[in-house]
Amino acid sequence: MILDGKYVKEQILNEFKSKTMNLKLSLAVIQIGDDEASNVYIKQKAKMCESLNIEFKHYKLAKTVKEDDVISLIEKLNMDDTTGILVQLPIPQNLNVNKINYKKDVDGLTNDNIIKMYNQENGLVPCTAKGIMTLLNYYNIPIANKHAVIVGRSTLVGKPIANLLLNSNATITICHSYTKDLAFYTKQADLLIVATGHKHLITKDMVKKGCTIIDVGITRENNKLYGDVDFENVKNICKAISPVQGGVGPMTIASLA
Ligand code: NDP
Repeated sequence: MILDGKYVKEQILNEFKSKTMNLKLSLAVIQIGDDEASNVYIKQKAKMCESLNIEFKHYKLAKTVKEDDVISLIEKLNMDDTTGILVQLPIPQNLNVNKINYKKDVDGLTNDNIIKMYNQENGLVPCTAKGIMTLLNYYNIPIANKHAVIVGRSTLVGKPIANLLLNSNATITICHSYTKDLAFYTKQADLLIVATGHKHLITKDMVKKGCTIIDVGITRENNKLYGDVDFENVKNICKAISPVQGGVGPMTIASLA
């Protein structure tokens, strides 16, 4: 079974449109520097906003911007009528811009929202992790009692999806670049989530028959996108798999909406 994120996204956005017709909504995206992948992701967000009648405000700041200037901008957006604020990652390592009002923190990356997620309180969670949960639920993939193996431990994807799956009563294993014998763990997964950015890291000999695989990773090569999973050779072994493209990417956008 192909987990069709593009289709599920359309369902979610249609429902969104009917609920928000009379609301004035806006999204502010703060970009620092000129990362090529960020430019692509921001274009997708702008397109989504346009299709949903959400005002889109793009603040593109120089890589050399001072932390105080970014914080001043965030504080202004916290105070005005902007609905959602998102700092597009990656940002320079020396910047700490964790000042977004947690109610406007649409990517769920402020400490306030992270603590809420840990405590299973209502808050905003990172869009990709939320999108994965929505996709699994849409296709009725069982989570409770299952062994979920997550490859990748970033703040943006790996850690939040591990938390959300744990909150849904899965048993969790988290792997990363220091993990010895990755295949030993991935072969045990009922649910395998891969978010590393390494093209075809997961091959057919690394997965259990009948498992579900969510491929988050994206590698661009010669204008083509590749996932972290060797899709063509793995798809007949697993029970369900999300493709790259049309899997997690659209779900991230749907969650942002
Ligand atoms: P990061 O670079 O922040 O994290 C990558 C993680 O993968 C790290 O935890 C790293 O381990 C781990 N890792 C790297 N190599 C290996 C390896 N050989 N074996 C095991 N673990 C490994 O990336 P992100 O989490 O931000 O993104 C991951 C991928 O997902 C990227 O390709 C990104 O483009 C894509 N992405 C896609 C989205 C979508 O909407 N489809 C949204 C967000 C991301 P360590 O911590 O030890 O370094």
